[in-house]
Amino acid sequence: TPRRLPVSLGEHGYDVVVGRGLLGRAGGLIAPVLPARRVVVVSDAAVAALHLPALRAGLEAAEIKVLAEIAVPPGESSKDFARLQDVLERMLAAGLDRRTTVVALGGGVVGDLAGFAAAVAMRGVPFVQVPTTLLAQVDSSVGGKTGVNLKAGKNLAGAFHQPRIVLADTDTLATLPPRELRAGYAEVAKHGLLQGALWDWCEAHGGAAVAGDGDALTHAVLESCRLKAAVVAADEREESAEGGRALLNLGHTFGHALEAECGFDGTLLHGEAVAVGLGLAASLSARLGHCSQEWPSRVIAHLAACGLPARIGDLPHRFTVDALMGRMAKDKKNRDGQMRFVLLRGPGDVFTSSEVPREAVTALLRD
Ligand code: NAD
Ligand code: ZN
Repeated sequence: TPRRLPVSLGEHGYDVVVGRGLLGRAGGLIAPVLPARRVVVVSDAAVAALHLPALRAGLEAAEIKVLAEIAVPPGESSKDFARLQDVLERMLAAGLDRRTTVVALGGGVVGDLAGFAAAVAMRGVPFVQVPTTLLAQVDSSVGGKTGVNLKAGKNLAGAFHQPRIVLADTDTLATLPPRELRAGYAEVAKHGLLQGALWDWCEAHGGAAVAGDGDALTHAVLESCRLKAAVVAADEREESAEGGRALLNLGHTFGHALEAECGFDGTLLHGEAVAVGLGLAASLSARLGHCSQEWPSRVIAHLAACGLPARIGDLPHRFTVDALMGRMAKDKKNRDGQMRFVLLRGPGDVFTSSEVPREAVTALLRD
């Protein structure tokens, strides 16, 4: 039986449903939150080929009419304005009205693009997330951020638009390339470090999760969503600079710099950059005396045991300290030009700091 996690986000709150075989039962699960039994499904071509038939059958079994199935090309390049317009035109041509729900079937790219389309179509229509990557199940499908990329940077155009329900079917993860599964797991480890008890679970069972064990994945998704929803509920629109959603950036100041240096060319996955970022954030915390050397050692050992890079030297790319420092100085999460890091005293005890001496960061990156 699926697990149901009620989250207090958006106007009415919603449920995150986690378990096996949810696509085939999707109609019955989502019907109670639909204003009318009509949907448009947005997916990417790879996910559609694998999982759309099961979702379609699940919707039709509950007499939910699928007005259109819109598949975009797989990959980050679909998160752009031209693609958004195309998706919107196709939705409206198919007869979408204010009571039609947009269903996003896919990874974070589809969720962000379809969610933004739902946020702006007729000034907002209902939206359902059916995430099919581990990253999307543990991170992007919960929290309400939607959007597309601009030339000026990633996710710079978007809207907050919470889904009516999230269906995280762990069976869909069986077709995910193992490297994508491991990359998504980096966000689980991050949530573990933010939460505490989840970190202990990660050290004991994270290996089973990245090996594809269904029970371990269900636990990882459920507890990640619980943590993320609680953090977001305290700061739904990211207004706090010190706490709240900013804490979810653990490992991301370094991670974004690494990704930007690779030019978002797909050779470094976001989760891989985050894994290295987590190792660096823990090491920086130890260098600054906030925690003992035990924590960076354990973080790096755990990520490595899960098949993730955890040190810059684990990556096949070469980075210069100057280039990474330059990227971090330009991070969009900075305020008043100050670099902001999320640091840890230990699992479950994290905080943000904009007072990290540059020299500490350069020394860390030089090692
Ligand atoms: P993605 O959506 O590009 O999916 C990764 C790849 O896996 C794609 O090629 C896709 O076709 C394939 N795929 C997806 N599901 C599959 C399955 N079940 N079986 C086989 N292949 C499958 O990438 P992602 O890692 O899921 O998401 C990354 C995006 O998420 C980024 O654009 C990022 O900005 C965004 N994001 C958003 C938030 C948020 O809060 N909105 C948070 C984190 C990340
Ligand atoms: Zn991330």
